[in-house]
Amino acid sequence: MLRIEDFSVSYHTASGRIQALDRVSLEVPRGSTLALVGESGSGKSTAAVAAMGLLPPEARVTSGRVLFKGQDLGAMTPDARRRLRGAQLGMVFQDPFSVLNPSLRIGVQVAEGLIHHLGLSEDAAATRVVELLDEVGIRNPAAIAQAYPHELSGGMRQRVLIAGALGPEPELLILDEPTTALDVTIEAQILTLLEDLRARRGLTMLFISHNLGVVRRIADRVVVLYAGQTVETGPTTDVLWRSNHPYSKGLLAAIPRIDAKRHRLASIPGGMPDMRDPPHGCRFAARCAFAAPGCERPQDLVRVGDRQARCHRLPGIAADPWPTDDTAC
Ligand code: ATP
Ligand code: MG
Repeated sequence: MLRIEDFSVSYHTASGRIQALDRVSLEVPRGSTLALVGESGSGKSTAAVAAMGLLPPEARVTSGRVLFKGQDLGAMTPDARRRLRGAQLGMVFQDPFSVLNPSLRIGVQVAEGLIHHLGLSEDAAATRVVELLDEVGIRNPAAIAQAYPHELSGGMRQRVLIAGALGPEPELLILDEPTTALDVTIEAQILTLLEDLRARRGLTMLFISHNLGVVRRIADRVVVLYAGQTVETGPTTDVLWRSNHPYSKGLLAAIPRIDAKRHRLASIPGGMPDMRDPPHGCRFAARCAFAAPGCERPQDLVRVGDRQARCHRLPGIAADPWPTDDTAC
């Protein structure tokens, strides 16, 4: 359904050129969910907006392409891309407030996509809006359609955005941190809703998150990004339970586990490199508990079965956990 091939993007800013994505490749087969994980600034949203054909003007694609059902988004006219978005590609953002217009009723906003992309009349769209709000688990959908965004809770607003994105019946849904702004109980409800929609509609999803607990629940496969590069890919259970790359091991070790009788939380020291001048060798080496001679050289992604990882210390460190931090508990 979606294929990103060898894709590099830089942003040109007053303070220099930031390489946000460096030769990233990923694939989302029809009916599956791929999660894109990584710390803030690793390039997740850049990949998401690129997949929507929505990169801002300051962004330059320096290599690769994005294919949606085999069509190269970069080679399409802006008009053709616009038609594709909304109709076949839906997107849900992290902050519903940034997308919902505060002065328009919910129903009018959800109806917009139906009128625009499906050509429904205003009356037909109004009826469909109520059905969609009901489908995403909003009780009393007719009343909510008449409400303004500020009258709704965060979880309700996120459901409204999902309803809006689903309205034109897209084949691919891109969700950029859709539950990050929500508390855990509402987050769990939204995840159940997405699982349910996937089962009912056969949705294909690109799901962006930095929460590995969420990813574990929702994704078939995972791509771990670090400083604009893919550091590990594979089936979710492999990447999250038997991580190969030290960065994935570190991310995992930093999640509190309720099931462990006694657990020590680990942390990854330091922060991401300056993306205006990233290290020539492994970008993670300065923070890595497994750093050794050889890490100063650029690392290639190495394939093992249906997994890949970018670390020359593999397979030697594959079974080693990220060391725990004795000062944490
Ligand atoms: P977060 O978890 O904080 O959302 P992210 O993984 O989505 O982070 P991106 O937003 O893709 O990361 O950003 C990747 C890099 O590109 C960062 O260094 C960021 O500062 C930079 N960047 C993103 N958008 C722009 C822009 N419009 N102009 C300049 N730099 C940008
Ligand atoms: Mg982001």
